[in-house]
Amino acid sequence: MHAHSSLCIGGLSTLSTTHLAAVILLGLLLDLDWNEWFVALLFGIGLDIDHLFAAPGYVARNGWGAILAPSWDDGSGLAWRSLMHYPVGAFVVMPLAVGWRLMLPLLFWLSHLFMDYLQAATLAYSAMVEGAFFAMACSGIFAIGYYRWRAAAGSSGLVPFLVHVKNQLKSLFDGSGRTSRGSAGRT
Ligand SMILES: [Zn+2]
Repeated sequence: MHAHSSLCIGGLSTLSTTHLAAVILLGLLLDLDWNEWFVALLFGIGLDIDHLFAAPGYVARNGWGAILAPSWDDGSGLAWRSLMHYPVGAFVVMPLAVGWRLMLPLLFWLSHLFMDYLQAATLAYSAMVEGAFFAMACSGIFAIGYYRWRAAAGSSGLVPFLVHVKNQLKSLFDGSGRTSRGSAGRT
């Protein structure tokens, strides 16, 4: 029982993490602006919000351990995915996609559906497939970050790059902890 639950890493949280990695990679490749990032996250990941609505009923029937199962198909015949997870969802996404560069909502919606399909089609070894997919997406993100930094900073090497990433993260956290702009400070 214990070994089973630790082996089943193809569950919801891992899948969402993989969706996130794929959205970031695709977003970096397309050089999105802030509005486009919002759309990318909404259609690339927000789509899975329907799982949350189905979760209480699913857990009540199968117990909390079943959350980690690679598929939530418990044979009950109850849908835990909304219609947005099926091709018919195109009727909603298509009109929303008109006017966006590269039909972005449609693009991210399709990539989400494709990943879900891939996961369902490889259920027996989905942990492995997904692990490979996740690793690929992460190396892609890392590579894009590295080459953009190299072009912008005019320097190269892995260690200087990692120092740059560290400084970026540091300034990000320093910045977010601040509520007022300027150095005057509040009393
Ligand atoms: Zn999904």
